[in-house]
Amino acid sequence: MHYVVMDLEWNQASSREAVHPDLVFEIIEIGAVKLDESGCVVDEFDALIRPTVYPELYFRVREVVHMSTKLLEREGRPFAEVIEEFFAWCGPDAVFCTWGSMDLTEFQRNILYFGIENPFPFPLFYYDVQKLYSLSYEDGKARSALETAVDRLGLFMGEPFHRAVSDAYYTGLVMGALPMKQLKPMLSVDYFRLPRTPEEEIHLVFDTYSKFVSRIYPSREEAMRDAELTSTVCYRCNEPAKRRVNWFSDNARHYYTLAWCPKHGWLKGKIRTKKNPDGSVFMVKTLKLVPQNTAVDVLVKHEELKSKRREKRLK
Ligand SMILES: [Zn+2]
Repeated sequence: MHYVVMDLEWNQASSREAVHPDLVFEIIEIGAVKLDESGCVVDEFDALIRPTVYPELYFRVREVVHMSTKLLEREGRPFAEVIEEFFAWCGPDAVFCTWGSMDLTEFQRNILYFGIENPFPFPLFYYDVQKLYSLSYEDGKARSALETAVDRLGLFMGEPFHRAVSDAYYTGLVMGALPMKQLKPMLSVDYFRLPRTPEEEIHLVFDTYSKFVSRIYPSREEAMRDAELTSTVCYRCNEPAKRRVNWFSDNARHYYTLAWCPKHGWLKGKIRTKKNPDGSVFMVKTLKLVPQNTAVDVLVKHEELKSKRREKRLK
């Protein structure tokens, strides 16, 4: 196993009228570094791509990435060719890592647009180094710029940011400075390609919680009728935990429940609704063993919502 830390640069339309709806961002550079299991950089990859959808570099992009249209015309190669080379370089047992989740999304959108078979494994697990950095140095929810993290950890090497390979290199350095042994379970799941059938649905068990990614549904109401999605099986013993309250929603997107496993105690359930651009949805369920006071909080919330609804009805 080795890590592939990657970073992309992309170009976009120079006016709103010129935006291609299926490809808002066109990749112009792929940069990556390979890290061994101990977090040391052992190899690097850098390739320029000649854009075909937006052949002129947008002036803002030009300023940020320090490139010219001429350079891409001269040294850029076709996307398909670079992709093949990149994945050959990655090897079959690469664990992908990026700063944030956007690069993997846009990468796959470009792959789809250019009619190439998606070379990433499915489901695609990856390390979001921005999130891991936040878990280690911030509150776990904040999302800092790569520059901020590099600065704070004293990793600046004099290389400018916003060239794919140097950003990949810096991301790799940040990763090398994180307690990866501890962070190993904190894999993210890529949501660009979603399960289409029950067999493809994603079941994950981590040390302190379990996660389930459903297939696509026309609506969240329809999704909530699915027994697999609403099941509350304890991830420690694989036995069904009995729900104390039915799944209830406090807003348009989240559902909660509380269940009891006789062996392991309270299990808090949460289902998040995720919207797709076409209006369909998929659901992400997490189940977590929680202490008594957290369990009580769920019941209190449920009661509050119930009485609010009752009040509304009476008015
Ligand atoms: Zn249990």
